[in-house]
Amino acid sequence: RHLKKYFPITAGLLNRTVGYVKAVDDISLTIQSGETFGLVGESGSGKSTVGRTILRLHEKTSGEVLFKGIPFHELPKPEVRKLRPKMQLIFQDPYSSLNPRIRIGDAIGESLLEHRFAPQEEIRDRVLDVLEACGLSSYHYNRFPHEFSGGQRQRIGIARALVLNPDFIIADEPVSALDVSIQSQIINLFQRLQHTRGLTYLFISHDLSVVEHLCNRIGVMYLGSMMEMASRDELFSQPLHPYTKALLSAIPIPVPRLKRERIVLKGDIPSPANPPSGCKFHTRCPYAVAQCKEQVPEFRNMGNDHYVACHLV
Ligand code: SF4
Ligand code: MG
Repeated sequence: RHLKKYFPITAGLLNRTVGYVKAVDDISLTIQSGETFGLVGESGSGKSTVGRTILRLHEKTSGEVLFKGIPFHELPKPEVRKLRPKMQLIFQDPYSSLNPRIRIGDAIGESLLEHRFAPQEEIRDRVLDVLEACGLSSYHYNRFPHEFSGGQRQRIGIARALVLNPDFIIADEPVSALDVSIQSQIINLFQRLQHTRGLTYLFISHDLSVVEHLCNRIGVMYLGSMMEMASRDELFSQPLHPYTKALLSAIPIPVPRLKRERIVLKGDIPSPANPPSGCKFHTRCPYAVAQCKEQVPEFRNMGNDHYVACHLV
């Protein structure tokens, strides 16, 4: 609730703070148990920082994070340690976090040892169990990271998160580095695991077509702010924000006669260290009017829990 994460910009020999990058600038969202919430936006919009701040990998600047009603960021260290296994992060490139000289089975079992979750003799069974759940097998237990394909490495990343038996998983661009054919396999895996293990996901992606099949609700971020938030069906059938419309119009549609307004954005996303005044999107919005430059649009519920921040809606 009202989560903010500002990173200081320092300068000079004394590292004086000369400004802030407002990576996450007052974001509120609720993720229901068992659902998948999709967080979408271009790179630099602050999606990953939302995920990492929720997990307390960054200390928040202000706001509140509630996990099952517990104010996670206010807990003392030992309590955090206890809850930490319940919330796991999956990255875009699990390979970079795998030690090339450690066998996959041991790499997955490592966190169980760290958290003293299971006696040594149980660890192998639990690792085999998650390998299988992720579409791998005992055959892979003694292999090294370089022996796996990109898709298999992501399966390993997922297995490593699962072995701690989490309730909540933040997946940060988990399929962005994969070929399209492999993407759908991994998305299916996410879906299957959600059903069999009762998982809740925050799924971060720059690609709306990736979140389409997986997410119950979707939030669209731009320069640290939420621009629109709605159920998947509403967002795809009735997008309200010009930025969402632009992102949607970039997706090729399978049925060409369902014509969609084509919006091409000019330029790149501005720097979050120096965001535009008023509506942060006004420098790229094809509909901007004078008011947009001056006034920050309120994030309003248009009914049906469909929220949007735009003066013209
Ligand atoms: Fe575009 Fe203005 Fe709406 Fe911002 S508030 S999205 S600039 S029309
Ligand atoms: Mg990112």
